[in-house]
Amino acid sequence: MDVDRVRSHFAFPDLGRVATNNAATSQPPRELLRLLESLTEDYDNVHRGQSSASRRTSERFESAYDTFAQWLNAPSRRSIATYRNTTEAINAVMYMLLTQFRDGDNVVTTMMEHNSNFVPWYGMCHEILPAFGRRVECRVARFDHATGALDLEHLAELVDERTKLVCVTGASNFLGTKPPLRTIRAIADRSGYVRDDGRTGSLLLVDAAQLVPSSFVDVQQLDVDFLAFSCHKMLAPFGVGVLYAKEQLLAAGRPFLYGGDMVAEGGVSVDRVDYNDLPWKYAAGTPNILGVIASARALRLVVDLVSPEGAPRWFDDDRPLPRSVVAQAMHRVGGHTRSLTELAMQEAMTIDGLRWYGPALGTPRAPLLAFTVDGVDPIRLAEGLNLEGVEARAGCHCATLAHRDLGLNPPATCRLSFALYTSADDVALAMDAVRRVVRDLRPLAPRATGAGGWTSGGRS
Ligand code: PMP
Repeated sequence: MDVDRVRSHFAFPDLGRVATNNAATSQPPRELLRLLESLTEDYDNVHRGQSSASRRTSERFESAYDTFAQWLNAPSRRSIATYRNTTEAINAVMYMLLTQFRDGDNVVTTMMEHNSNFVPWYGMCHEILPAFGRRVECRVARFDHATGALDLEHLAELVDERTKLVCVTGASNFLGTKPPLRTIRAIADRSGYVRDDGRTGSLLLVDAAQLVPSSFVDVQQLDVDFLAFSCHKMLAPFGVGVLYAKEQLLAAGRPFLYGGDMVAEGGVSVDRVDYNDLPWKYAAGTPNILGVIASARALRLVVDLVSPEGAPRWFDDDRPLPRSVVAQAMHRVGGHTRSLTELAMQEAMTIDGLRWYGPALGTPRAPLLAFTVDGVDPIRLAEGLNLEGVEARAGCHCATLAHRDLGLNPPATCRLSFALYTSADDVALAMDAVRRVVRDLRPLAPRATGAGGWTSGGRS
């Protein structure tokens, strides 16, 4: 991968930014900013006008759904719904399934989830369903504090014949752990839960917010029922999350939002409403039209950015993206970001007092590294890095359960995270800055307390 060429498509390198907070949000390439401007020539709503502008915008919007489906190797756009972000997509699944839970059912999730894949299930089990007199339990599987691995035995113990749904991250945004999704699929399949259609097995939802940006994800191969990711972590502007769901689930499910465009043309009377065909049954109200179009183009651009000179280009086109093209591009991205992460880990091992969390060097992980330094407040560390021009994030990264479970006090770590445009120089600069900031802060800061009970993949 020619990283210098990739970087030339972005503004941040010329601004001297060491953009190493990509797990929060990625940087936008210039092509997308130009695309947004050019889309204003046909600026109009979708499915709501006979003008050529509206027709063209509708075509682009619909074709974006095809690109999302092709990116995930979903059978068709009928399996795709768009929302504001991963959080809203997971909430949409919660509302879709809400009325299907039976008294005594349970949901199994994990201690390493982002709050957006725990709090909706907490809210459903502790607030919404009890208000309707229905008891549904929310069970949480442990992870191994030393390796960051999900405790699959514990997960398998929690999943039983009353488990309607298993919700798991595809890659933790704090530990970096990538739970084995095929094994989890098998655990869910064996649960014995009897579905409404008589088949047995629990549904599986994957939070892929940190998986999609650096991996090839094939929803049919993984056989997931639901999978969500945010396009703003994948070069796109803010405001679009993609939900994949098996078509029969979307066909049978209740939409999260009711209103215009999600109904069949003329299909509304006082006593009866007929819904639109998939996927538009899940597109109530005017959607984020430009965002959706730009997000699909962002995915296409990823392929162009990481492919060798002379390879076919996909950005400016609506041609179907073959699975092999997406796979090859994402394997390139995965290989590049993996080597950056390993570089960061090797450097981290040489910094006195630094402990990282999650898998050891050599074990697959998302391209991020969260760490603490004995005696240094992570927030002060990130602020110090900012003064050195290095963008980091300190806090609990919305992975509050895992920080508390590890006994971290304060419940915070400092995190560096990498993207396809991150260079080895960025990583070296960032880790040099960590070394300097730690040297400056360490003698001054009070020692952190309460961090017992955990070990890390790193040296302390
Ligand atoms: N899940 C994971 C693993 C994440 O990293 C994030 C973003 N930090 C989310 C969910 C939520 O994404 P969004 O804020 O775009 O809804």
